[in-house]
Parts: sequence; C-alpha cells; structure tokens
Amino acid sequence: MSPASLLKELIAIPSINPMGQDADGPEFFEGRMSDYLERWFGELGVECRRIEVAPRRHNVVARYAGRPDRPVTVLDAHQDTVPVDGMTIPPFEPHERGGRLYGRGACDIKGGMAAMLTAFARIVRDRPAGCGDVIMSCTCDEEHGMAGIRDLVNRWNSSDSSDWMGRRPDAVIICEPTSLDIVVAHRGVVRWEITTSGRAVHSSRPSDGINAIYRMARIVSGLEEYADHLERTGAPHPLCGTPTLSVGRIGGGISVNVVPDSCRIEIDRRVLPGEDASRVMPDVDTWLRERVDVDFEMRPPWCVVEPLSDARNGDLADRLLHHVASVAGPRRKTGVAYGTNAAAVDAAGIPAVVFGPGSIDQAHTKDEWIEIEQLDLAAEILVRFLSDAGERSRIGS
Ligand SMILES: [Zn+2]
Repeated sequence: MSPASLLKELIAIPSINPMGQDADGPEFFEGRMSDYLERWFGELGVECRRIEVAPRRHNVVARYAGRPDRPVTVLDAHQDTVPVDGMTIPPFEPHERGGRLYGRGACDIKGGMAAMLTAFARIVRDRPAGCGDVIMSCTCDEEHGMAGIRDLVNRWNSSDSSDWMGRRPDAVIICEPTSLDIVVAHRGVVRWEITTSGRAVHSSRPSDGINAIYRMARIVSGLEEYADHLERTGAPHPLCGTPTLSVGRIGGGISVNVVPDSCRIEIDRRVLPGEDASRVMPDVDTWLRERVDVDFEMRPPWCVVEPLSDARNGDLADRLLHHVASVAGPRRKTGVAYGTNAAAVDAAGIPAVVFGPGSIDQAHTKDEWIEIEQLDLAAEILVRFLSDAGERSRIGS
C-alpha cells in the first residue's frame, strides 16, 4: 500500500484529542486508531504491544528485530489530532486534489505516520543487512498533555531492560511536519497562574477594602520589567533566539460597584535549550518579592514542556540529513518555535530529532492538507536511514 492510500485510511478514523475538556463520542480519543494500528501490525507479523497510558488512551508500539550489534532506532508518530471545530472541509472524508491530500491529521501527523509505517513495513519485508532493531511507537495524547511519550520514556528510564519495551534506544526520530528539514532544537514552555487577594467592599467606600486588581497591576508591571530584563540579558540560542515571558490573560472582580477581592493572571515563559525549566518559577518569585511590595500566590504550573537541545543530536541529525539530501535535495538543520515529543526524549539523555513530511503551516488548519509527493520522499528517506544505521558505538557520542 502506498503512503497516500494508508493516509486515507488513517484520516477516516477520527482520533480527536479532547484537549483537557469533557468530551464524549466515538470521534474523541485514540481508541479506534489504536485498534486499527494493532490490527495493522498484526497483519505485518511483528511483535506489538498496546499499553494503557490513561483511561481510553493507549500507546501502540511494535518492534522489528534487527541485528543486535546495530543501533536501536525509534520512529514515533502520535495518534491524536486537534479538534475539528471550524473546519471548511469534511475532516474525516479524505480526498485528493492537485497532488494534495485533504483531511484532519493529513499534515499533523497522520501523513507522517503513514510515511513511517510504510518505511517500517519495507524494513520488515526486506530485512536490510545493516539494520538494527526498529521500534515504531504510535503514542497517544501529544496535542495536549504529552502523556504517551512520557510513559514510553519512563519505561526506558526504568531498570527493566530485559524486555524490548524497556530497552533504551540509541536514536529517536519524532515525526512532525518539518517539510523534510531536520529540527534539532526548540524552546520549551512553562505556564502558570499568579493570584492576588484583597477585601471586597462597596465601591463607594474603596478605602475600607483592599483592591486585588491594584495589587495585581503592580505584579504585572514587575513582570513587564522582568520580561525586558530576560530578553536583554539572557544569552540567545543560535536557533531559538532569547528566552521570553508574556502575561497573556487577566481576570478579576465581580462587578464595577464592588472592590475586587481577587485577581489572576496567566503567564507563558519560553525556555531555551540548556535552560533549567525547574528554575523558571523560583526566579520569577524572587524577582517579584525583591521589587514588589504586595502579597501574591504562585500556583503550580499546568503546563511544562522541556526544550529540545541540540547538544547531543548532532550525529543523528547529520546522518539523517545525508539521506534527506540524496532523496529530496538539500535541506537544513533548524530550530522551531513549537514543542514536540522530542523534548521528553532529550531530557532522558537520548538523541532525538524531529523530522517529517508536510509543512507546519498546514497543521491544525481549517482545510488541512499535505503534498502527496512529500509522503513518498519521507518514506524513502527513512528506509535508507534505517538500512544504514551504522555501528552502535557511533551513536550518541
Ligand atoms: Zn503533531
């Protein structure tokens, strides 16, 4: 089956991530996609495991057993898509037009998954002499909580390596639409809330109360200064720019005639490769307490995505780039603004890069599509890369 035919089947199986909201109905969660993948790997005749990560959410992981003296490579593509609200095309009825294939997930990332599955099937069929173990991981919940990749990485970090699921891989390729460039670095993000409290009284007697919004205004000014300081003094990363901080939402008070007793803001702090994400909130806390004389509370973060560092993936990126160039022409190593599953892998000390067909410009869009030619190129590149995986000792050095 061609990658495009496979992609049509994948698009026709809804696997919407509810993005943390209450959602019911067969189009939500990855269950039907996991069923399909389990069957698909079964028909291919490879070992396959379906691992529950959360209720109704499974990773489906399959293994091709190659030469034990060669590197273990993981190909990862997530099963979920973003929601379909506002789409201008039928999301689950794939159709071809002008060399493009349309549907939800065509670009992010069922197209990439189709290319990876095609490459995996060719490796299983042809058993190239130079190929080590290839693990195809179809992870769940990438678009919201990244629970799927975390579960997989936890297994690699645990001491049980007697089973193939627990063996630490030598290299991981995370599929996202990179237009066949190789993403070697991206920023991470920490998001959290700060609250201030006050005392509510009638607005005709404000001096009897304590205005939580006035308190928050001083916090916000302090954060504006901190953001400026961060961009001026933080050492920029060549591919990812400077660290940043932004206050993105504010809310407080119940009525114009009541002095507000609470106010809250939401903060987005982008973390550079090499920065320690766990230091982000303590640093902000110290900055504010030294400069702003009001009480506030830092709530626990609801989102922490580690950065992807280019410190350990150079060799992997160069070897992949060589095959990209020979199949698709010159491409580059690059950094991007969005976060990926590669960050959790990198944080575990395992070389990881991001690579896949399609452009990020078409991901999550109302008329999502992918160029069919890119699917074929990506599959061919991956087959050549896996067939020429090198010696174990070369990887990760
Ligand atoms: Zn994606």
